Formats: sequence, C-alpha cells, structure tokens
Amino acid sequence: MPGEISAQDVQRYRGAWHNYVARRNLVVVLFVGLVPLGFLIARLRLSEILSMSVLAGWIAAYLAAAWWLTQWKCPRCGKAFANRLWTPRCISCGLSKDEAAAVARGK
Ligand SMILES: [Zn+2]
Repeated sequence: MPGEISAQDVQRYRGAWHNYVARRNLVVVLFVGLVPLGFLIARLRLSEILSMSVLAGWIAAYLAAAWWLTQWKCPRCGKAFANRLWTPRCISCGLSKDEAAAVARGK
C-alpha cells in the first residue's frame, strides 16, 4: 500500500512507471499510425513490393513494441507484470496499474 512505501520504493516506482508509459505510448502510436500509413502508401503510389515491405516493417515494429510492453517488470515484485497487453493488475502480486501510477505521482 502507498502508506508503507519508502522513498527508495517511490523512486523505483517512478522509473518503472515512466518506462511503462513510454512502452505503452509506442504501442498506441504504432497501432493508430497504421491507418495514416496505409493512406500515405496508397497516395505515394509505390511499387507493390515496396508498399508491402513498408507495411510489413511497420507491423513487425508494432509486434516488437507489443512484446516489449508485455516484458515490463512490476515495480513491486520485480516479476513480469503481464503476459498479454492491457492487463490491469500484476499477474504475480496483484499490484494494479492505478496503484503503481499513484505511487509514481507521489500520492
Ligand atoms: Zn507484481
């Protein structure tokens, strides 16, 4: 619980939370960006091979980012937080993302 957390823990939570937000934002940007990328490729009238290569590269980057997000470690127990995207609680210790964010914000 936030009341029992030391200043050192707060630093660890803060670093972990910033790391999580960066990974999550990357996944969101790569996911949402696929649609404008599709329009851009259509507009540029690239060769079929080049178009497919760009799209495949983007999708590979999205999958890599999504995998990276699932590798995020829980700031409380240090184990993998989730084994899939958008898990609200740590699968090992039950810490919720809201609790982790609250500690990182110093509440
Ligand atoms: Zn945990």
